[in-house]
Amino acid sequence: MSRAYNFCAGPATLPESVLQQARDEMLDWRGTGMSVMEMSHRSDEFVEIAETAENDLRELAGISDDYAVLFMQGGASSQFSTIPLNLLGNKTSADYVNTGIWSKKAIAEASRYGTVNVAASSEADGFTTIPDQSRWETSADAAYLHYTPNETIGGLEFDFVPDTGSVPLVADLSSTMLSRPLDVSKFGLIYAGAQKNIGPSGLVVVIIRKDLLGKARKETPTMMNYQVIADNDSMYNTPATYSWYLAGLVFKWLKARGGVQAMGEINLRKAKKLYDFIDDNDFYANPIDPRFRSWMNVPFTLGNDALNGDFLKGADARGLLNLKGHRSVGGMRASIYNAMPEAGVDALIAYMAEFAKERG
Ligand SMILES: *Cc1c(COP(=O)(O)O)cnc(C)c1O
Repeated sequence: MSRAYNFCAGPATLPESVLQQARDEMLDWRGTGMSVMEMSHRSDEFVEIAETAENDLRELAGISDDYAVLFMQGGASSQFSTIPLNLLGNKTSADYVNTGIWSKKAIAEASRYGTVNVAASSEADGFTTIPDQSRWETSADAAYLHYTPNETIGGLEFDFVPDTGSVPLVADLSSTMLSRPLDVSKFGLIYAGAQKNIGPSGLVVVIIRKDLLGKARKETPTMMNYQVIADNDSMYNTPATYSWYLAGLVFKWLKARGGVQAMGEINLRKAKKLYDFIDDNDFYANPIDPRFRSWMNVPFTLGNDALNGDFLKGADARGLLNLKGHRSVGGMRASIYNAMPEAGVDALIAYMAEFAKERG
């Protein structure tokens, strides 16, 4: 059986060579006679796997010693509450930018712990654009500002990093982590659920500036206390060991491909090809302000919604999987993360052209 091109938004496609290596190491990791899945997280072997993954991530993303890197559980969604519990400190409010469904979820959760000031929102524009920072209404005493650099469902991506001065900047990078260069030093905290661009689900990577540790509220669950997780090298309890190991393999794969600089060039080329095709073909449409179109998630509609089922059926038959759009948006969505080969995008475009010609 040959591998299909999987355009799922998450859990998402992984590099084939990574899966092959995992297969080869499945029963016996480097002569230990054990699978990584069966290893004690306190063993020398696993500690080495864990440290190597962290070091490779630090190198790839350019993370200095001013930051702790945590490998936590509960997905990106658990961070929606972990962040206010840890970062509000003795303040009562935080600024949030609302650019879509993931922003809204983060806002809803933070509202349980403090006052959320929505500093900017593109909801009135149907989340098709990002408000210019000059119009944001931030509050003077915000504990931090939270935003979602890439809205995975809407396909809307920031092309700039907000300037928040001395207010810590917090970013949900779940679907765009390591897809292009980013200056980590501008952030107070970055978090990313692994299952889009890093590895399997069950893991969320948190990069936190060390001066923001140790401010958790008294009632913060121990498992959500960044200081505790940092003090214990993310092994306060049993971590998601296999996901961590696979993330490490993905980091090695990224390094071999030239790191985030090279990935950024490839990803831009992939995205541009697909958007150019959509724009040039009357049958397809994407509603997002071109400046803020996501490099990772490309939603599109067909000229006739009644053909959606046929489009998906034909795509499946060609091994182009999971193109159905999110239920809240409809239409189609192609997620083209780091691990989606350029040939997958080419195959999708070829199919879209053929379908439009026959049925459009
Ligand atoms: C997928 C995603 C989430 C949710 O991740 P989980 O790991 O399922 O909790 C949050 N934010 C963004 C931007 C996402 O893409």
